[in-house]
Amino acid sequence: KHIEARAELESHIEANIIHSEQAHTHAYENSTKNGLPIIAVSPVQGKFTSLLVALRGARNVLEIGTLGGYSGIWLARGLQGKGKLTSIELDAHHRDVAIENLQYAGLKVPEDVEVLLGAGLDVLPKLEEEIVQGKREKFDFVFIDADWKNQWNYFDWAVKLSKGPGCAIYVDNAVKQMLESGIVGDQERVDDATDLVAKVGADPRVEATMLQTVGAKSYDGFLLAVVK
Ligand code: SAM
Repeated sequence: KHIEARAELESHIEANIIHSEQAHTHAYENSTKNGLPIIAVSPVQGKFTSLLVALRGARNVLEIGTLGGYSGIWLARGLQGKGKLTSIELDAHHRDVAIENLQYAGLKVPEDVEVLLGAGLDVLPKLEEEIVQGKREKFDFVFIDADWKNQWNYFDWAVKLSKGPGCAIYVDNAVKQMLESGIVGDQERVDDATDLVAKVGADPRVEATMLQTVGAKSYDGFLLAVVK
C-alpha cells in the first residue's frame, strides 16, 4: 500500500543520504545535451555500486557499458583514489562524452579511468591477452551494464578475468531482462533469451543472488555474484 510514495521517498533519499556531487549532475546534464539516451543508473543505484566497490576494497574495477560515464564516476569514487576503473563502450560518441564527464569530475584519463572503445566481446579477449602478457592486472569488481543479450557472455568473462575468491560481479537490469525476454511472466519468449538466473545458479565458480528493486523510475533489479 506504500508503493505510491516510492518516487517521493527516492527524492528524499537523494536529497539526504546520497550526497551527489556537482560532477554527477553535470554528467547527467552534459550527456542529455549531447543526445545520449537517458539510461544511466539512478543516483541511489550509483551510490550503491560505489559502496560495494568500497566494501570490497577493490583496486581494479571493470565496467562494460560506459555511456556518459555517470556510473563510472560513482565506481571511481568507490575506489577512493586507490585504484583504477577500466570501462568498455561500443559507441565513440558515448565514449567522448564520457571522457569529458569523467575529467570534469577530476578523474585522470587514462590513469584513473580508462575508456576502451569497442564491442565488449571484442575487447574482453584483448584484456585477457594483456593480463597474460603482464601488462594489466585482473579485476576485483565487475559492473555489467551493456547490451542485455550478452549478459551471460559478459558474466562468464567477468569470472575469467577476476582475481579470484571474493571478487564481485554486479549485473544491472538483470530483473528487467528476465521479464522482458519472457523467461518468466506471460510475455512470449524472445528467441535468444538466456536465463541468467539458471546459468549463474549452475555455475560452480560463484555464489549469487538476484534482488528485485523498486525505485522512482521502475521495477527492476540486479544480480550480484561473488567468486568462490
Ligand atoms: N553504465 C552506464 C551508466 O549507468 O551511466 C549506462 C550504460 S547504458 C545502459 C549501456 C551502454 O552500453 C551504452 O552506452 C551502449 O552504447 C553500450 N553498449 C551497447 N552494446 C555494447 C557492446 N556490445 N559492447 C560495449 N558496450 C555496448
